[in-house]
Amino acid sequence: MMEKLLLRNVDKENSHTIDVYLSGGGYRAFKKALKEMTPDDVVEEVKISGLRGRGGAGFPTGMKWEFAAADVKEPKFFVCNADEGEPCTFKDRVIIEKDPHALIEGMLIGAYATGCRYGYIYIRGEYPIGRKILERAIAEAYERGFLGENILGTDFSFDLYVHSGAGAYICGEETALIESLEGKRGEPRIKPPFPVNAGYLWKPTVVNNVETLANVPLIIERGGKWYSQIGSPDCPGPKLFPVSGKVKRPGVYELPMGTPLEEIIFEHAGGIVKDRKLKAVFPGGASSSVLTSEEINVPMDFPSLAKAGTMLGSGAIMVLDETDCIVKATLRLTEFFRHESCGKCTPCREGTDWLVRILRRIEEGKGSEDDLDVILSISETMENSFCGLGMAAHNPAASTVRKFKDEYLLHVKLGRCPFRSV
Ligand code: SF4
Repeated sequence: MMEKLLLRNVDKENSHTIDVYLSGGGYRAFKKALKEMTPDDVVEEVKISGLRGRGGAGFPTGMKWEFAAADVKEPKFFVCNADEGEPCTFKDRVIIEKDPHALIEGMLIGAYATGCRYGYIYIRGEYPIGRKILERAIAEAYERGFLGENILGTDFSFDLYVHSGAGAYICGEETALIESLEGKRGEPRIKPPFPVNAGYLWKPTVVNNVETLANVPLIIERGGKWYSQIGSPDCPGPKLFPVSGKVKRPGVYELPMGTPLEEIIFEHAGGIVKDRKLKAVFPGGASSSVLTSEEINVPMDFPSLAKAGTMLGSGAIMVLDETDCIVKATLRLTEFFRHESCGKCTPCREGTDWLVRILRRIEEGKGSEDDLDVILSISETMENSFCGLGMAAHNPAASTVRKFKDEYLLHVKLGRCPFRSV
C-alpha cells in the first residue's frame, strides 16, 4: 500500500485549519523554496519531478511555469482552477474542504517560481462550503504571515482571493475561466496566445488545477527525483481517482499514477455491487470514450489510456454493470454537455443538441439503424469544435455506438429499451 501523500492530512481532526497543517510540517516546503531556492531552482525541481497537470489536459507543470517565468510583463497572476464541475468528478473537493492549506502552499510556491504578484482561486459556484473553508484558510495564512507584503521578511509579496463561479461547466476551460474572472460571459478565447503570456487582463497568467498544486509542496520538500519515481515513468506521481457508479465502495482513492483500472475497480473499490458483471467503464470522466469489461487491464495514466483509445481526463472512473442501459447512460452524459455547451461554435452547439435528440429517440424505442451512422457523422464534425468541450463531448456517443452496437440495435428492433420492464 502506497504511503498517503495527497490525502495525508484529510483524516485528521480539523484538518482544514492552519494549526493542524503546520503541526504536520505544513508550509515547510514554501519556506524552503523562499529561503533556500531561487525561482529558477523551483521551476527546475518541478520539471525534474515530471508532474503533469491533473485537470485533464496533462500539460507538464514545470514547462508551463517556465514559460510564465520567462515573460517579463507585469503584474503576473497565478490562478487555481477549482471549477470542478464534471459529473462524477469530486476529487478536488476533498483537498479544498479537508486540506485547503496544501493548495495555498502549492500556489505560494508556484507564484514565487513564476514571479506572480496576485492569485485567484476560481471555485465552482456549487461548492459554497469549499469557498467558506478557503476564505477562512486564506485569512489564517495572512495572520501567520504567509500571504501579503514581504512574506517572511523577504521581498516576495503575494495576495490571494477566492472567486466563485456562477454554475457554468465551461468555465473550467482556462480561457473561459479567465473571461469569467474578468466579469465577462464565460466563453473560451482563441489560442494562441496562451494564458501564460496573455491571460487575466491580458497579462501572464498561470492556471493550475487544485490537485496539481497539492502535489507541489511534496515535490519541493522531498525533491523532484523522489517524486519522479512514483508510478508511471512517463507520467509520475500520486493520483486521486474518484470512483462512482456500480461499485461496492465508491469514493476517492489515492494511488500511484499507472495503477491498472481493473485493480482500482475490483480491489480498491470492492468490485461490482451484488457481484454482478461489469459492463462498461468511462475511465476519465464524462467525456472519455468507453472501455468494455475486456479492456480494463490498462494502466491509469495519460499515455496508456490514449493508446487504449480513450483518455485519463480528470481520472474520474464511472462504472456500469450488466443491468445498466448503455444508451440511457450515454444520453445522460450527452445531455450534460448539451446543457453546458456555451453556444459559441456551431459543431458543439448543434452537435450536442442533435446527439441528445437521436439518443433519446433510440432510448425510447423510436430510433432506426441509420441513426447510428448519423451519430458517428455528427461526432466527426464535432472534432472541429472551438474548444475541448465540443471536441470531447461526443466521445461517449461515438464510442458506445462502436462498442455496444448490438445493444443500440436491440432498442431499434424491440421498439423499446430492453432494460425497462414492459
Ligand atoms: S466547443 Fe462548445 S463550449 Fe467550446 S466554444 Fe464551442 S460551443 Fe462553446
